[in-house]
Amino acid sequence: MAAETVLSRGKSGSAVLLGAHMSIGGGVHRAIERACSIGCTAMQIFVKNNMQWFARPLAPEEIKAFVRHAQRAELSSVFAHANYLINLAATNPQFHANSLRALAEELIRANALKLPFLVMHPGAHLGAGEEAGLEKIVASIDAVFTAIPKIKTKIALETTAGQGTCLGHRFEHLAWIIENVREPGRLCVCLDTAHVFAAGFDLTSEAGTRKMFREFERTIGLEHLVALHLNDSKSARGSRVDRHEHIGKGKIGLDAFRFIMRDSRFRKIPKVLETPKGKELREDVENFEILRGLLGTR
Ligand SMILES: [Zn+2]
Ligand SMILES: [Zn+2]
Repeated sequence: MAAETVLSRGKSGSAVLLGAHMSIGGGVHRAIERACSIGCTAMQIFVKNNMQWFARPLAPEEIKAFVRHAQRAELSSVFAHANYLINLAATNPQFHANSLRALAEELIRANALKLPFLVMHPGAHLGAGEEAGLEKIVASIDAVFTAIPKIKTKIALETTAGQGTCLGHRFEHLAWIIENVREPGRLCVCLDTAHVFAAGFDLTSEAGTRKMFREFERTIGLEHLVALHLNDSKSARGSRVDRHEHIGKGKIGLDAFRFIMRDSRFRKIPKVLETPKGKELREDVENFEILRGLLGTR
């Protein structure tokens, strides 16, 4: 059996939507080749250099090389992650203006690549306070969506560790944003295991993990969940420090990942690694083996 078939199927034979964040070095289409070389069925990418505010628009050839790539169909789920410089709650007017423009441009790029959503951290209030920060985020999302009415790519708000003044470490923050924007249908949610653990949820047992998802369901609603970032955590529960670790090697351990891999509610939700790796992607392959090993027989 081809390695790819082994990697992309669970023991029961059902396809698992599993992958990793992939580099777009050499062009966005190169990410597809990297992901397929290690048997991914899902993939997350940046839509431009992650360390720059702006970039020249994607050329039609670049878009074609991506959407018409021979291997594109091997990936059932491909989505984007926004630039880390973007802060919709920025207090500095120039940073805030840059953030709105960069977000609009990234949504336009993701839309050109036919990606369903762009994962984004809600923002950091930088001392203005949670309420003022959340209000600024809502107004910013409204302004961006109003400026690009025809863009289909949604924003997937990501749960955060709550480092510094970052918002999004409480499910209530994300729920409040969704409830208050003018176009809630253009928002969805991505849950990061390392972030919710660092934010204080106990994921060291199946019972704790179930409880976290019950809380998510009660506050935000599972119908909004479109992606899972599977990362173990180097930092302690409740530390609010965002440090990713390889699956099973950090403070979370395997119970939470076993639960997520086996629960039928998450079968169609793409699960993507954001763990450290070298150019050869060996570490991704090892993490996939561990995660697939948790699938068991259904
Ligand atoms: Zn993120
Ligand atoms: Zn993440």
